[in-house]
Order: sequence, then structure tokens, then C-alpha cells
Amino acid sequence: ELKKIQEILKTAQENNIQFIKIWFVDILGNLKSLAISHREFEYALTEGMGLDGSSIEGFARIYESDLVALPDLDTFTILPEELMGMPVARLFCDIKRPDGKQFEGDTRYILKKNLAEMKKAGFDQFMVGPELEFFYFKDDKNIEPLDKGGYYDSIPIDESHSLRRKTMIMLEKLGIRVEYAHHEVAPSQHEIDLRYDEALKMADNVITYKAVVKMMAEQHGCYATFMPKPMQGQNGSGMHVHQSLFKDGKNTFFDAKDEYYLSPTAKHYIAGVMENVKGIVAITNQWVNSYKRLVPGYEAPVYIAWGRKNRSTLIRIPQVKTGKPNATRIECRFPDPACNPYLAFSVMLAAGLDGIKRKLKLCDPVEDNIFKMTKEERKCHKIDNLPGYLFHAVDALKASDVTKRALGEHTFEKFIANKKVEWDQYRLRITDYEIEKYLPLL
Ligand code: GLU
Ligand code: MG
Ligand code: MG
Repeated sequence: ELKKIQEILKTAQENNIQFIKIWFVDILGNLKSLAISHREFEYALTEGMGLDGSSIEGFARIYESDLVALPDLDTFTILPEELMGMPVARLFCDIKRPDGKQFEGDTRYILKKNLAEMKKAGFDQFMVGPELEFFYFKDDKNIEPLDKGGYYDSIPIDESHSLRRKTMIMLEKLGIRVEYAHHEVAPSQHEIDLRYDEALKMADNVITYKAVVKMMAEQHGCYATFMPKPMQGQNGSGMHVHQSLFKDGKNTFFDAKDEYYLSPTAKHYIAGVMENVKGIVAITNQWVNSYKRLVPGYEAPVYIAWGRKNRSTLIRIPQVKTGKPNATRIECRFPDPACNPYLAFSVMLAAGLDGIKRKLKLCDPVEDNIFKMTKEERKCHKIDNLPGYLFHAVDALKASDVTKRALGEHTFEKFIANKKVEWDQYRLRITDYEIEKYLPLL
């Protein structure tokens, strides 16, 4: 530790770093940050920084409690001057109580705890590859797209492409490996895919990615949003998460003899996710708006099923090039990028491990477009639905022991309290829809 701190101090000095930002997220995954001036570096890195605990509670802040943000020295990264206007570095942190005990509301710790459970179950690494989709808009008041697919563009189509390209280069500079990027289905919708990595590092990277996409957009005079469904009648933004479990450097999801190249372990994992999905979806899709994405017809899942080619399913099995066993994986298509990635990875892992532990049997795949099936056909395939509203998802969450165990009592209760506040705010609103529809009629 001491050596690491000396190295960081040396690097900071060599790079003329004026501030170190200590990053953490609240329960809902919002990025929070403390800036330390250069005179305090050594003290902060050794002793940690004091923190008001209510900053971590999301909407449902109740009391102030004193906590300590202890930097995770392995996450030291220099944020380039082009991004921040001056050389700044950042570290993620662990959040402890003043007496040194772990704070249970630290979602990064919750992911670590779930990874420890995975090790107990006999695996070494939880590999994840998220695909985050987002929109560029003019500002945060209007859903005016930057590129309108060649129609009456006020800004050339190229504008958002070059912004996306610059963002990719910036991510690489921050040590985040980008696999590829492309324009998505909706106007002004984009996707930059990260190369798969271990879950904790990836959750940190997701937070950094979102911050970088937003900062770069702002610098270019526009606004980037990870809101799940900003535009009615267009695709929403998902965060498909590819996942697999490794042991001794090998992918335990791979089986050369299986039609889908899936091992029994992988199949139990899928069965576990399907069995538990109703109870975890409030975490992976945590906003009122999330459920406006999970509707038929927009490539987002609605039904609880799996398949290879099928984009209407909850879980898709990407077909991998022969001879690439490590690339065998499952793709969970339900999460959206507005989740807390530490919690989202935790609950998906816990759901999958539950399937492995209980050796849950996997149902048959569905290769037809479920959106085109009748209700009877879905019934015959025994295809169930995801919760249609945040309210129902939270109800299912309350009943889920798997989620409760994965989050721990503290965060489980706080999360539910947050969602109650949100749902109440929403349901008290009289919407445009009601005024337009009912006022002339009733
Ligand atoms: N935007 C779609 C979603 O909401 C996904 C499109 C795709 O397959 O990449 O999940
Ligand atoms: Mg996509
Ligand atoms: Mg995908």
C-alpha cells in the first residue's frame, strides 16, 4: 500500500495533477465526487476522506451519518487535460464507517461481496461485456436529435459521428478498451461497446464511460442521455450485458458438444436468470421510464424466454466463431444503461448462481419472433411476461430472497424506499395524455 501511494504521488507530481477526484456512486448509481487539492493527496490516500453518508442514499435521504471514502489505489487514472480543462486524476473508493467497519450501502462493496459468493461456488471470474446505447440531443430540455437520418439536418449527419469517434479515443486514453461503435436504430442513437472484462473493473468502467460520453457531448455543445426511452415510437436505449463465468482461465460456459455450445453450467445459469428475473428487474431497470422501453416491437425484451437468433427474447446466445471457446457467453438483453452497474451485475450474477446451485432445468429455446406470436402461442411455449411497470417490479423485488441476499438488508430496504418515493411522485402527476384525452371528452 505504502509503495502504491508513493508511486501515485510521484505520478501525480510528474503530471502536474492539481486535483484528485474521489468517485463513488449513490444507491441509484449516480456519480458523486470529492475533489482533493494537491496538498492533501498523501493524507487522503492514506487515511481516506470524510463523507456525509446521506449523499449515498439517492432520493430517500433520511439522516446524516459520517462515513469515510477510502480510495482504491488500483483505480488511479489520469483524466486528460482535453477532458477536464486541467490535469486531474481520479480514484474510485470503498466506503467505510469511521470505526473502519464496512458500510453496507456501498454498492461497489456489494458487487465485491457477490463476487466472493461466486468464488465460494467454485468460479474465479465473472466476465461481463456491456453494450451501452445512448442518444445525443441538443440539450436536456428537448428531445431534438442531432442527426435526423438525412432529412432536414440542421447539423450535418457527420457531427455526431465525429463526436462518437472522439469519445472512443478518449475512452481508450483512459485505459478503457473499446470494441466497436455504431449508430443505433433510432435517430441520434449510438452505441459504443466495451471489450469484456471482470465485473468490478467493468462496473467502474461503465461509470467512467457514462461520465466521459456526457462530458464530451457537453464540450461539443450537445447533450448525451442514457435515459431508457426518451422518444415515443422509437427504440429505447438498452445495456445488453454479455456474461460468462471463468475458472482457471477457462470459460465454464463452453461445451463443444452442445448445439448452442453451452455447458450444463451455462444452462443452469440462464435458467436461474429466467427464474429470478421478475425479482431483479427493478434493479436492472430501475426507473418509471425503464418500463416504457420494455414494450413489444422495439427490440427490447418483454417476454421471459431465451434463444439464439431472437432479439425479442430476454436472453440471447450470440453465435461465436468456431474455435473461440472463451467467447461463448449469454447476452442478457433486459438491463438499461440508467441502472447502477454494481447492483445490476450483482443481481444478475446472484440469479445465475442460484440457477447453478439449484441445478435448475432450462426450458427449450424460442427461435420465432415472440412479438409476432399470439397470446395462445405464447401460452403454449409457457412464455411469461416481465413486469409492466416499476410498481410491479418493486413488488416482485420485495418478494425476492435472492435479491435481498445479493443486496444485503440495508441496501434492499433503502432501494425500495427510493422507489416508493419515485413511484409516488409519478402517480400523483396528471399527464399530458390525460388532459388531451379526457378533458375534451368527459
Ligand atoms: N435498442 C434496443 C434495446 O432497447 C436494442 C437494439 C439492439 O439489438 O442492439 O434493447
Ligand atoms: Mg444495440
Ligand atoms: Mg446486443
